[in-house]
Amino acid sequence: MKRTAWTLLALVAVMAVAWLLRGPIALAVTDRMLSKTIAADAVAGLPDGLHAFVCGSGSPLPDKDRAGPCLAVIAGNRMFLVDAGEGAAETLARAGIPAGRIEEVFLTHFHSDHLDGLGAIALQRWVGRAATTPLTLVGPPGVERVAGGLTELYAIDNGYRTAHHGAAVAPPSGAGFLGQPFALPPGPSSVVVLNEGGLKITAFRVDHGPVEPAVGYRFDYKGRSLVVSGDTSATPNLVAQARGADLLVHDALSPPLVRRLQAAAAGAGQKNRAKILGDIINYHASPEDVAREAESAKVRAVLLTHIVPPLPVRGLEVPFLGKARSLFSGKLWIARDRDMISLPAGSDRIEKRRLGR
Ligand SMILES: [Zn+2]
Ligand SMILES: [Zn+2]
Repeated sequence: MKRTAWTLLALVAVMAVAWLLRGPIALAVTDRMLSKTIAADAVAGLPDGLHAFVCGSGSPLPDKDRAGPCLAVIAGNRMFLVDAGEGAAETLARAGIPAGRIEEVFLTHFHSDHLDGLGAIALQRWVGRAATTPLTLVGPPGVERVAGGLTELYAIDNGYRTAHHGAAVAPPSGAGFLGQPFALPPGPSSVVVLNEGGLKITAFRVDHGPVEPAVGYRFDYKGRSLVVSGDTSATPNLVAQARGADLLVHDALSPPLVRRLQAAAAGAGQKNRAKILGDIINYHASPEDVAREAESAKVRAVLLTHIVPPLPVRGLEVPFLGKARSLFSGKLWIARDRDMISLPAGSDRIEKRRLGR
């Protein structure tokens, strides 16, 4: 036999052995990964300052790359969520951010895509740190009703958890939700909803009619600031509240791309879907709207999120953005799940990276 034939035979033999041993090899690799991922806490090593982690950059439209709307805001050693759409808990876990760190969830409004991940978030937070108080939902009036409904929805399941794992792991007092509403005066208004330890959180009214009220939130901490728009069309109150912020995290919908979806739905005889797609066009801001507002507010960086429609084909980000980049002189990104933007205290730096896998 020639030498090349022997080499080929040896290679096939090695591949055959590897194939036969694939189970034990996979277990060994998994053990190594588990010891790292289970102990992970991506928040523990962060520098003091404000950090925004994208735990969901999607919308109600199905998108395999994006969880439902969710932003984790870390200020010093405190962590909050703004909204929690479907898949938010999984995105946090994939980034190594323990749900047990969540103090409260701030809700921008009560559309289901901003709430439908709360069950998993509450469960992971509860058993993650054996919480003895329910998960607090802060929001406009109506949040008590949402909290009450969710508590009832998961009450039977919560009972199973305590019975199965014991009260030390799943204390009954920590199950469920507590609604904490704030009053918002009519018109273009704002209200401080938390002010302690150098952290100020301000809720402000946005325009997401017929949803009323809908709010955004501004976080100020140690000279750094970030603003979360919630769902809104372009509105002067957002510009006023975002003035001078380091980072604006804003919803974004591309009217030309949604019109294409609408035409496809109409062409397929799906009248309801075509009607809904037409209805949503003017109750979110376009990327160009956001760019103009950010420029006017002298914001330093923009992260577009709540991406409508999904962008499954590479290159679609170009028509999605339109002229947005030329309308804004700061940094502008389309958010991806697990993006982290850091604003370290005592600096003017804006750092972006992606966590986990
Ligand atoms: Zn939404
Ligand atoms: Zn909405």
